[in-house]
Amino acid sequence: MLKKQRLFTPGPTPLLPAAMAAMAQSEVHHRTADFRAAYKQVLEDLHYFYGTTNDVFLFTSSGTGAMEAAVSNLFSPGDAVLVAQAGKFGERWTEIAKAFGLSTDIVEAPYGEPVMADAVRAKLGSRKYAGLLFQASETSTGVAHDVQAFAAAAAEHGALSIVDAITGLGVMPIDVDGWGLDVVIGGSQKSLAIPPGLAFASVSARALEQSKKAALPRFYFSYAREKKAADKGDASWTPSTALILALAQSLKFVRELGRETLIANAAFLAEATRAAVQAMGLQLFAKSSPSSAVTAVCSPEGVDSRVIIRALRDRFNLIVANGQGSMEGKLFRLAHLGYYDYPELAGSIAALELVMNSIGHKVELGAGVRAAQQVAAARL
Ligand SMILES: *Cc1c(COP(=O)(O)O)cnc(C)c1O
Repeated sequence: MLKKQRLFTPGPTPLLPAAMAAMAQSEVHHRTADFRAAYKQVLEDLHYFYGTTNDVFLFTSSGTGAMEAAVSNLFSPGDAVLVAQAGKFGERWTEIAKAFGLSTDIVEAPYGEPVMADAVRAKLGSRKYAGLLFQASETSTGVAHDVQAFAAAAAEHGALSIVDAITGLGVMPIDVDGWGLDVVIGGSQKSLAIPPGLAFASVSARALEQSKKAALPRFYFSYAREKKAADKGDASWTPSTALILALAQSLKFVRELGRETLIANAAFLAEATRAAVQAMGLQLFAKSSPSSAVTAVCSPEGVDSRVIIRALRDRFNLIVANGQGSMEGKLFRLAHLGYYDYPELAGSIAALELVMNSIGHKVELGAGVRAAQQVAAARL
């Protein structure tokens, strides 16, 4: 059998062909008029992608760099922050805040469940917090948070709302300005369908003000320096020129497709996937608040999910993600964010049916595909 490699992982995601072509033609110097024009266009198009009039800064780093930048740019030694923690990426917020010596409190949900807005609001009222840190979509468990309610709770208590929306942007509706989100973080290797290596942050006027007073040390990641440079079409340091040229193509693609259509596409694929795996007798891991970025599926009782993941790879060259942390071996995750379409999803469900049968979890062939088809038919 011929096997095409297909990434079904929640970052990196499949690459946009136009972006790949742009990377191959990236012999360019970053302090030239041509590159400055491209960089300015990218910053403008990022505003469209975000749907915001706030400043949007771009960093050459993976997404975690922009998370660290939010902490180092906004807070002072001794500040207290609250982390809404529902998985590996929430734990990353906690680790970063602690690494910078902040007094870090946690409001937690078990893996597979969201942190509830009421719990966040109650905790915010218990003490003076300078910021609330959370995920829009917790990629490790496939859970979505109520971003709007979290932002409102933070504003009520005078805390900055700082959201890791790395698998939220281009995936779920996020009204940055309307909901008053202070810092919204994105990354290149998720819904924008280019390789890892760029991170973004939209920053509100209020957050910029706070960053001027914030006393934590910072150097590479500096909002003030980045703002000054961006106004001239420059990045502070040598940026990843190849990735920025790729990003220009990706943002053009999103503009032409429409941000709402990109979001609706992920929601549709996620809905079809949930229907399909349940029709195959499999359990969803995130039952109450599933994210459209990725669907986490529980491995059947007594089956290590690595067996399923390996079989999908060996038989069909389909790359899916394992669970993370304590969920490793217990679930597998299928991504929907970015450059995915329905025919490849339907094909991957068909492959999953065959794999499940081969490992002894009997599925009537076509049961999962039929359920996905019914979701698709309702949209046509
Ligand atoms: C992918 C991802 C990140 C970024 O991780 P990097 O490896 O630093 O790019 C952060 N948060 C979430 C929710 C993610 O899905």
